Amino acid sequence: MDAARLKESWSLVAAHGDQVPLYFYSTLFLAHPETRQMFPTNMAGQRDRLVTALGHIVSNVDQVDRLVGFLRDLGADHRKFAVRAEHYPAVGEALLATLRHFLGDQWTDELAQDWSAAYGLVSQVMIEAAQAAEAVNPPWWVAEIVGHERRAFDVAVLTLRPQWLLPFTPGQSIGVSHPAVRSWRYYSPANAPRADGTVELHVRAAPGGAVSSRLVYGCAVGDKIHLAAPVGDRLTLWPTGPADLLLLASGTGWAPLKSLVEQVAVEGSRRRVDLYVGARSRTEFYDNDAIDKLAASYPWLTVTYVAGADFHRPGEFVQPVDRALADGDWRSRHVYICGSDEMVAHSLTSLQRAGYRDGQLHHEGFGKHWYGPAWRTAVEQPAGPDNSGGVR
Ligand SMILES: Cc1cc2nc3c(=O)[nH]c(=O)nc-3n(C[C@H](O)[C@H](O)[C@H](O)COP(=O)(O)OP(=O)(O)OC[C@H]3O[C@@H](n4cnc5c(N)ncnc54)[C@H](O)[C@@H]3O)c2cc1C
Repeated sequence: MDAARLKESWSLVAAHGDQVPLYFYSTLFLAHPETRQMFPTNMAGQRDRLVTALGHIVSNVDQVDRLVGFLRDLGADHRKFAVRAEHYPAVGEALLATLRHFLGDQWTDELAQDWSAAYGLVSQVMIEAAQAAEAVNPPWWVAEIVGHERRAFDVAVLTLRPQWLLPFTPGQSIGVSHPAVRSWRYYSPANAPRADGTVELHVRAAPGGAVSSRLVYGCAVGDKIHLAAPVGDRLTLWPTGPADLLLLASGTGWAPLKSLVEQVAVEGSRRRVDLYVGARSRTEFYDNDAIDKLAASYPWLTVTYVAGADFHRPGEFVQPVDRALADGDWRSRHVYICGSDEMVAHSLTSLQRAGYRDGQLHHEGFGKHWYGPAWRTAVEQPAGPDNSGGVR
């Protein structure tokens, strides 16, 4: 397989923009109408997801060793779309037809063989992982909403009871879908695993957001939604040993960090935990009661609320990291950061400038990425030397 040729041909095709997914999906649905049910009712947001991901992964097949963990997760995860082994050749055919269409004269027999072999390799890993996952987890869980509280105009706290136990590690995220929307998004449990198996989610409705709006404005106690297996290890506590923690949260980014606080409490460890929790303004702290209760229950936990915009500081916006850095030196700690992509980026830049090392910074942004947390780790970040050096 000529990896350079694959990449070059993919960039030529990708330059056709929106035309590429349009052609791909038309070809797929025309030749294999049964695959339509795997995709959301409204395809608008879906447009470039599958095609871009496929093109990117297949044309990077020379790095398959780095991608293999991600592909396995992807294969296991795709069961939630009701994808079966027999669908993979259909998608492969549509991909090759799309490439042929856009490459015109540049589509040669050799290139066709390379793409076909690369897609075969990728799909093989995914199919095998999906088969292996059958023995471990269902493709998705049906969960009943047993609590639905609107805590702010655009924020709801949901309590869900999955039909079977959904095991997860604090800091991970789970797939969530509403049967009427059929799109999946990630949300982070805000609790450590509970004896009754219930899961708490904090959801902010994104303007025009298909899934979040449905969960915040269009759901009630008694409704059923679908959940998928947990993913991600960026915010889990496993690499930290017994180190003290600094937690920086903003908005619903508080959810996974709340589950970490609960985990520390369950562990009974002697860590110190300092939490800086931010919101755009004072009125937007939607979970104060629970936060205050945690702070009152656990002497090892200190909480600081940070209102970004303040009447007394016109034109200034303060982030949790700004307050934390002004308050002290936390370089002996592991730092967990969660919020919008902008908040996470600002926090990382500020901490790195202040001498904190990458290995002690654990972060997750809630912005859009095609295939959730693993996509970033496996595909967007170039392979590099391990920089997870110890904490000072
Ligand atoms: C690992 C991970 C964990 C997450 N955990 C949570 C969580 O616990 N709570 C939570 O509320 N959200 C969380 N999110 C974000 C969530 O997955 C969705 O992206 C978000 O709810 C919007 O989905 P949607 O279907 O409503 O919007 P879409 O239909 O996908 O998008 C509609 C519009 O909203 C914009 N948009 C999309 N995402 C966001 C966003 N995050 N913020 C602002 N605008 C956006 C789009 O650009 C578009 O204009 C998490 C995301 C990731 C990747």
